[in-house]
Order: sequence, then structure tokens, then C-alpha cells
Amino acid sequence: MEAILTENLKRVEERIQYACQRANRDRSEVTLIAVSKTKPLPMLESIYQAGIREFGENKVQELCEKQEALPSDIHWHMIGHLQRNKVKQTIDKACLIHSVDSIRLARQIEEEAAKRNKIMPVLIEVNAAQEESKFGITIPETEAFVREISAYPHILIKGLMTIAPFVENPEDNRIYFYNLKQLFVDINQKNIDNVCMDILSMGMTNDYEIAIEEGATHIRVGTGIFGERIYQ
Ligand SMILES: *Cc1c(COP(=O)(O)O)cnc(C)c1O
Repeated sequence: MEAILTENLKRVEERIQYACQRANRDRSEVTLIAVSKTKPLPMLESIYQAGIREFGENKVQELCEKQEALPSDIHWHMIGHLQRNKVKQTIDKACLIHSVDSIRLARQIEEEAAKRNKIMPVLIEVNAAQEESKFGITIPETEAFVREISAYPHILIKGLMTIAPFVENPEDNRIYFYNLKQLFVDINQKNIDNVCMDILSMGMTNDYEIAIEEGATHIRVGTGIFGERIYQ
């Protein structure tokens, strides 16, 4: 098992490097987050041994359990939809919440972070392709949303995140990555107080190379590293 994972990781790493070359970007501009949801601890340990320190989970309980069982120098990314009653635990365990998608959720994060005297780094989830089935703010709503949350003293908006549609041809998602990058640049140029975004979290197993070409700083790769997920 270990050999397969190391092989997978090597292949992903090579593809990241080629995509960076094509886009004239330095490899250091792209952070690989290994999305380990549903996968057992020994698999995460293998990837850790291979040097990965960024892991992504989409369920708070699973994130907490894994965080407690694995070395403390791992950075845990909360990438899934977050319920308000799970905010408390998430703030204690995650380095970054990728999925802020409502004012109500932001308000809860503000409240819990304030209690801990902590400033919580977050990304705003944008529904870049306007899919009915997806969470996230629409592109036209994003600037106003960022402005509203920027007033919360215990939240730091670090950037934007999107989950692109599932498509046969990853080229079909290029436009969404391009649009998200434009939005990111536009909002940064507005010089909103407390907003200096430097993270663009986009690209998954199917389309991370395109996302890198379009400016992703963080890619979230699950299947490409750990293999297919089996859901009970
Ligand atoms: C599961 C998940 C991923 C990883 O998906 P793969 O296609 O397995 O790489 C990335 N981002 C989010 C938000 C996810 O839920």
C-alpha cells in the first residue's frame, strides 16, 4: 500500500511541476493539500512519511479524530460545508476554513474565535459555475460579502475557494478558474480594510493542472493520491 501511495504522490508532484512550467510559475507558489477524507490513518501516515504536511478533511469529527492521532506539525484544512454547531471544534483544530458560505456561519466563527482571543483565517467559498447543487456565494455577491465579513475582528479573509463542476474534460473548467482568479484580483484591488487575499484554493484530482495554469495557490487532491473513495 505504501508503495502505491508514494507512486501516486510522485505522479501528482510531477504533474504539478509540469503545470507550473507551462504557466511560468515557481513550484513554491502551489501548495498541495492531500484530501484524506474517508481514508484510514495508516494511509495518512504513509503520505506524512513522504513529506506531506497539509491535509484536507470535509467532516469536523473525522478531522478532529485524525488530528489527535497524527503528528502535531500537520496543518489541517477544513474543506467541507461547515455547520454552525461544529464551528467551535473546527476553530481549535483547523489552520484554515475553506468553506465560509454564509453570513450566519461567519458570525458564528467570529463569536467563537473572539471567545478564544484568536483570529481565524478563512476562505470564501464561491459557486463559480452557479450550480444549483453547490454551496457558495455567487460571483456578483462576493465583493459585498467580503466587505461585510472584513468588519469582523476575529476573522481574517485569506482568499477564495471554489469546487468546479464534475466534467469529463477538465478544460471545460478553465473558464471558472479564470473567472475566480479575476474576481480575486478585482477584490484585492479595491483595497478593502483588513482584506489582503493571497490564497486561491481551486483544482481537484480531475482538474488541478488547469487550476494551476489559471493561478491556483492551493490545490486539493484526494483520489489522485489515495485512490477512489468507498462510501458506506
Ligand atoms: C473530496 C474533495 C476534494 C478532493 O476530491 P478528489 O476529486 O478526490 O481529488 C477536494 N475538495 C473538496 C472540497 C472535496 O470535498
